[in-house]
Amino acid sequence: MSDRLPGFSTLAVHAGAQPDPTTGARATPIYQTTSFVFNDADHAASLFGLQAFGNIYTRIGNPTNAVLEERVAALEGGTAALAVASGHAAQVVVLQQLLQPGDEFIAARKLYGGSINQFSHAFKSFGWNVVWADPDDVASFERAVTPRTKAIFIESIANPAGSITDIEAISTVARKAGVPLIVDNTLASPYLIRPIDHGADIVVHSLTKFLGGHGNSLGGIIVDAGTFDWSTGGKYPMLSEPRPEYHGIRLQETFGNFAFAIACRVLGLRDLGPALSPFNAFMILTGIETLPLRMQKHCDNAKAVAEFLAGHSAVSAVNYAGLATDKYNQLARKYAPRGAGAVFTFSLKGGYDAGVNLVSKLQLFSHLANVGDTRSLVIHPASTTHSQLDDAAKIKSGAGPDVVRLSIGIEDKEDLIADLEQALSA
Ligand SMILES: *Cc1c(COP(=O)(O)O)cnc(C)c1O
Repeated sequence: MSDRLPGFSTLAVHAGAQPDPTTGARATPIYQTTSFVFNDADHAASLFGLQAFGNIYTRIGNPTNAVLEERVAALEGGTAALAVASGHAAQVVVLQQLLQPGDEFIAARKLYGGSINQFSHAFKSFGWNVVWADPDDVASFERAVTPRTKAIFIESIANPAGSITDIEAISTVARKAGVPLIVDNTLASPYLIRPIDHGADIVVHSLTKFLGGHGNSLGGIIVDAGTFDWSTGGKYPMLSEPRPEYHGIRLQETFGNFAFAIACRVLGLRDLGPALSPFNAFMILTGIETLPLRMQKHCDNAKAVAEFLAGHSAVSAVNYAGLATDKYNQLARKYAPRGAGAVFTFSLKGGYDAGVNLVSKLQLFSHLANVGDTRSLVIHPASTTHSQLDDAAKIKSGAGPDVVRLSIGIEDKEDLIADLEQALSA
């Protein structure tokens, strides 16, 4: 073997996987089992006491899921990862390690609609208080910091308009505040942006989107960058204090630069329970093997469609960071030089009614609430994903009444443009 470090596409195919030691199977097998036999009583005790790594029960870990974890950790440049049942589950598990009731976290206002709901309502019932900041105004994050702030949460490429967040600037705020920066990297995938290279301490994904990539399996993942010191000032007791559930061990002291991933597994996943099915892990692993190919095609198609829409008379604005005229183009060139993603919005001169009408006329585009599928997708956020927000909040989060969101697939771009052309002229 050469001592060359493998490139991104090689990692996408190989990281974490090896031929199955008992059967020689080359593709990663689906270990469809709930539990694993112990070698003997001592082995069982050491697994339960976290003195040895190994398989116990699929809610805590599974060999198929482990390959997925290792692969995504490698692609993101993290020390370890934990796969869970969905992107939302990843967010709950991460924040459970960081916040006690009464604590706060700062979140960018431009987020996936489901995350806005989760943070505003479900998390409030846990006593976790979200404070919103404007991702286009770094100072608004600084102003939001209080002694109870425990984390900052942003999206790298942000929903719904595909805007690009200045990760480095916000990571500087997080560092000064002594709190970790969590980046939801779902819309970028590590092929376009690796947030850890720009100062993120924790990366989360909805694997449901581009990483799985085929619109067939839910999943989520948490990647530990291994960069954050959890021991300072007793601010993160889940990591720094003796854990009564594990004979008083301190996770940071014991596990060092992957303590956060361990905490998510042995305190979060074990006790909250959102385990990923090994079957879904297999589907998502298979998707990841073609991530570099798909993502480049998604981006190239998205740019062509955005250029077409920008020249159309029924369209009042196109928000795609890959366009030279876009206000996020500078940030896109810095953070996502291979392409500005494939999810973006545009506005119709005809307002709300034109948005609803367009969605009903499109034939090749599927009208549904998802992104990051091989198929092209369309939705009118104001009447669906963002309908629970009031008008001012809709506009602030980029989902005004005239806005249509597209997720561009990997079909032939000429067919996508022809479908939009017929629907816009109808
Ligand atoms: C879909 C999505 C989520 C939630 O993920 P699920 O897998 O649906 O739970 C979170 N963040 C972003 C950016 C998403 O697109």
